Amino acid sequence: MSKIRDNLQTIGAKLKEYSSKYDLPENSVNLLAVSKRHHIDKIREAYEFGQRAFGENYVQELLDKKKQLEDLRIEWHFIGPLQSNKTKKISEVAAWVHTVDRLKIAQRLSDNRPEDMPPLSICLQVNISAEETKSGIKPKELNALALQIADLPQIKLRGLMVIPAPEDDLKKQREVFAEVALLKDNLQKYLSDKGKFIDLDTLSMGMSNDIEAAIAEGATIVRVGTAIFGQRKS
Ligand SMILES: *Cc1c(COP(=O)(O)O)cnc(C)c1O
Repeated sequence: MSKIRDNLQTIGAKLKEYSSKYDLPENSVNLLAVSKRHHIDKIREAYEFGQRAFGENYVQELLDKKKQLEDLRIEWHFIGPLQSNKTKKISEVAAWVHTVDRLKIAQRLSDNRPEDMPPLSICLQVNISAEETKSGIKPKELNALALQIADLPQIKLRGLMVIPAPEDDLKKQREVFAEVALLKDNLQKYLSDKGKFIDLDTLSMGMSNDIEAAIAEGATIVRVGTAIFGQRKS
């Protein structure tokens, strides 16, 4: 068996194992295969094994890969930092953007989303570890931002995304993810109090090193690169 198939199988088994360990319904966790800086042949290989959702961090790389893989029915997720002058391109090719953290970006994604496509699914990226250099909105500004974007017609707010500071201890990892889950629940309530009935069904959290903790706290999308495709070229 090829390495990539092998890896996908291993991760699939892990997702099942953790779902049952933490009493979650089967298939409540979706695997996003993060293919940044990996060759399209590797994407094809994962696709042949049944993987459909792929994540990319760089706009031009996503556009190039999308073009070269036009024959496949890939669901593209953009998970990198997004500048406002790149929003048009992304809104034309992506199914999801995980990294929205400003009104201007959300507005431009909605304005530029072609009308013959379904609304773009987005997550708000939260800076949960309060790191100066990380992107993401501060937790205390989250509700106000979500309320402002709730009515944008061509985007659909699905939930929250985080990249916590690295941490090896499972218990500490879980504490951070539990905070994020609570933020989402509070946001859901806040929005419905304001008359906005939006089903926040997504927590995009968990990478190779903290998948178990993320799933234990309700992750619905885990983002895995290296454990599927191997080390990236630098
Ligand atoms: C690169 C990346 C991942 C995947 O990281 P790996 O360590 O390769 O599993 C997940 N999420 C985001 C936002 C990334 O940029």
